[in-house]
Formats: sequence, structure tokens, C-alpha cells
Amino acid sequence: MAVRPIILYPDPILRAQARDANVCDPQTARVVADLWDTLDSHTGVGIAAPQIGEPLRIIAVDATRARRPVPNHGRMALINPEVVLSEGEIAFREGCMSIPDFVAHVTRARTVVISAVLPSGEPTTFVAEGFEAVILQHEIDHLDGVLFIDRVRSARDLKPRGR
Ligand SMILES: [Zn+2]
Repeated sequence: MAVRPIILYPDPILRAQARDANVCDPQTARVVADLWDTLDSHTGVGIAAPQIGEPLRIIAVDATRARRPVPNHGRMALINPEVVLSEGEIAFREGCMSIPDFVAHVTRARTVVISAVLPSGEPTTFVAEGFEAVILQHEIDHLDGVLFIDRVRSARDLKPRGR
């Protein structure tokens, strides 16, 4: 298990379509462990396997790290996650460990239904709202090579971090 370097934009790895992960493959457990080690060494709230150079559909999210408490499911690693339903709109200031110099206001669905497989092999379907829904959509985007800067509606919404 290891803290892995974060792949930075514009590395083409971030633009690739990740492939389905096999929950029985020992590599999947290794990637999940490395995602947690890497996320825990940063201040982020989520990470996707392509960000550590693994082209697999695996994410780890932790909405408990929100500055203000929000409804959430705690720390979750998800294998082959999918948004099966989305509703409403929410605008949120997003950042990304792979694009450390910028933040942007992005509009996404306010409520999502996610279906995925847990690292235990158990399938799961759950509803996420608000901040947690935003994190999940951001990380699932990574699996399709989509970055938050692609979802910015106007250049004015993109800002250098820390200003
Ligand atoms: Zn990101």
C-alpha cells in the first residue's frame, strides 16, 4: 500500500476511458488501498483511479471532510460506479488534485442515485445529495476522461486557486 503521485493535467491518462474493474482481482484491492493512502495524504474529498495512473473504474470519496457537516455516507470506495438517476441542479466551487492551480463554479445534479459494487463484492444502490452528490459526479467523470474544467459554463467561472 502506498501514497502514489497524482497525475497532473494535461497528462493524457486523465483523458482516457477507464475500464471496468473486477472486484475479485487482487489488483482492485491494491488500487483501493492506494487511493485511500493517497487521498489521506492530501486535503481532497475524493479521488479516482486514473489520477494515480490506473485506468480502472474505481473511486474513493469522503464527504465527512466537508468544512460544514453535510448528509453523507462516510468513507466509500466504489467499484464500477454509475449515476443511474439524477435530479435538480446545484452550483458548487470545485477543485481537483490533478488541476491544482484552478477552482471553478460547476453546475451539476443536486441529487443522484448511484449504483456500484463495494470492495467486499456486495452491490449497492444509494441516493446522494448536495456536496456528496457533487463529489460522486466529479469522480465518476474522471472515469470517462472528463474534468471539471470541461463543465465550466463561462471562463469567468474559472479562477486561480487562492484568490
Ligand atoms: Zn478531480
